[in-house]
Amino acid sequence: MAKRDFYEILGVSKQASADEIKKAYRKVALKYHPDRNPDDKAAEEKFKEAAEAYEVLSHPEKKARYDQFGHDGMQGGAGGGFGQNMTMDDIFSHFGDIFGGMGGGFESFFGGGTSRSRSSRQQGRRGSNLRIKVKVTLRDMAEGVTKRIKVKKFNICTQCHGTGARDRDSFHTCNTCNGMGQVSRVTNTILGQMRTTQTCPACQGSGRTISAKCSKCRGDGREYGEELISIDIPAGVSEGVQLSMSGKGNAGEQGGPPGDLLIQIIEARDEKLAREGNNVIYELYLSFIDAALGTTSEVPTISGLAKIKIPAGTQSGKIFRLKGKGLPSLNAYGKGDQLIHVNVWTPKNLTNEEKSILQKLRNHPNFTPHPDKGQKNFFDKMRDYFS
Ligand SMILES: [Zn+2]
Ligand SMILES: [Zn+2]
Repeated sequence: MAKRDFYEILGVSKQASADEIKKAYRKVALKYHPDRNPDDKAAEEKFKEAAEAYEVLSHPEKKARYDQFGHDGMQGGAGGGFGQNMTMDDIFSHFGDIFGGMGGGFESFFGGGTSRSRSSRQQGRRGSNLRIKVKVTLRDMAEGVTKRIKVKKFNICTQCHGTGARDRDSFHTCNTCNGMGQVSRVTNTILGQMRTTQTCPACQGSGRTISAKCSKCRGDGREYGEELISIDIPAGVSEGVQLSMSGKGNAGEQGGPPGDLLIQIIEARDEKLAREGNNVIYELYLSFIDAALGTTSEVPTISGLAKIKIPAGTQSGKIFRLKGKGLPSLNAYGKGDQLIHVNVWTPKNLTNEEKSILQKLRNHPNFTPHPDKGQKNFFDKMRDYFS
């Protein structure tokens, strides 16, 4: 039976917009919906036919391929397409946004999701996954960022839209398997005749052969090039985290499904701030005059400069905390803190005048160290923060 034209199935013109196609599909799908047409095989076929048409016409790449090559350009070639190979559950999981909550009533119709066997025909080989590394600053790790990155990869051939064929007339049903994608062999054994099935070696399971190859990609269906990809990096990532974008890896051969893009996060070193878990650490250097008299210091944070008050009598090793000025977690609520570690700076070179001023202070009792008994040392404090 000849396949009907996808546009005809949905009742739209070739010039229809994506929105018109979506609306038309919704209308047809509702009309033939199995809940409204119980035990009606013809309606079920129409329902699946519409799903197949929509699956193709709603994807720009598949639509272009269909417009150029007709049904021959679609996966599985001479006959078996998406709609017929899918179970009803598949259709609902793909088009959930269109049906809204309707999927639920559907399973009862099929007695709880009977799965029918998929067609044995295979698509071209799946493209491989692609790995890239992306450097992210602390600020971007804190706030999330969208990076547009040029990725070198195999893309779908723009001339044949991935089919690998020169034109409509280049497709032929495979002679070896008669388009079935599989061949069976009967062998005689002690137990009698045994039938085994295997993927057709002539067409690798696609059910068709191509007589004239696309001149641009020589039949591969893909070409090597660059693609500008927008990568959404969520707040809370850290060094070593791997993100993945489904379908953004290398295009498959001869229209096979694409691989994934795997993105490994690398922390760009910050000149002033160090990261420790979700906390950010800043080493603040104070003159002993500022530490003794107190002052206001500007310190860098992930989100810009912040002013902090240094009280008079601040000891070297003191840690100030800016609550919530650290990094968020990828999978949890809350944020880390910024810890400001005070280092009192001892001058290395002094003029004679400076020396004489300090000499005068040397024997003043307030300049003789007398640490508090309860004063914690640096390691105790760090342990408190990180425990
Ligand atoms: Zn091509
Ligand atoms: Zn074959």
